Amino acid sequence: MDTRIVLLGAPGSGKGTQAKRLCGELGLTLISTGDLLRQAVRDNTPLGIEAHEYMEAGKLVPDKLVVGLIEEKLEDLKGGFLLDGFPRNLEQARMLDAITDIDIAVELDVDEDMIVDRIAKRRSCRQCGEVYHLIAKSTKESGICDKCGGELYQRSDDSEETVRKRLAVYHEETQPLIEFYKNRNILVKINGRDTIDEVYHRTIDAVQNFRN
Ligand code: AMP
Repeated sequence: MDTRIVLLGAPGSGKGTQAKRLCGELGLTLISTGDLLRQAVRDNTPLGIEAHEYMEAGKLVPDKLVVGLIEEKLEDLKGGFLLDGFPRNLEQARMLDAITDIDIAVELDVDEDMIVDRIAKRRSCRQCGEVYHLIAKSTKESGICDKCGGELYQRSDDSEETVRKRLAVYHEETQPLIEFYKNRNILVKINGRDTIDEVYHRTIDAVQNFRN
């Protein structure tokens, strides 16, 4: 199905985890600006060098840098896609409109105390980027990625102080997008407070119902 989806939600709402599963099931291309920016930082590209200080401070990377990334990814893309972490403010949403049409905006709704707990227990693989949770999605061997055997680490922007900053940025800049897509009648709100499996089934049902 050639659906074009935007996935919205606060940091720690489960976007990345759900995005991977949804794309696998629905045959969509996953475009995560957070993952692309972290890769650029690791590769020390000009984009990575410029983006790094904003990411470390929990701030948004300037629109022109991120929109450039999205334009590049969507340019030759055939079929449907899911955007994880983009758009992050109204300006980016307007720029996205100029590039392509969006069919559905999915909002993952999670309580704030749950977010802080989820992020504190989040671990990522240095090698392949797979994301785990010390309790809800643990690895077979402590500190080692199940998928590729890489070392797990805690993202530097997952410290409590930076998470609070990221949440403030979310409320101020990203939350207005909920209203933006609601006014277009393409917003689907999902209760994201349960297990990964429950949220996944809820989301996929909602997306499929929306399309029918
Ligand atoms: P994420 O993995 O989506 O939580 O993103 C991690 C960090 O990357 C954010 O805190 C921002 O600094 C940056 N970032 C990701 N997506 C965007 C975006 N669409 N616009 C600006 N900055 C972004």
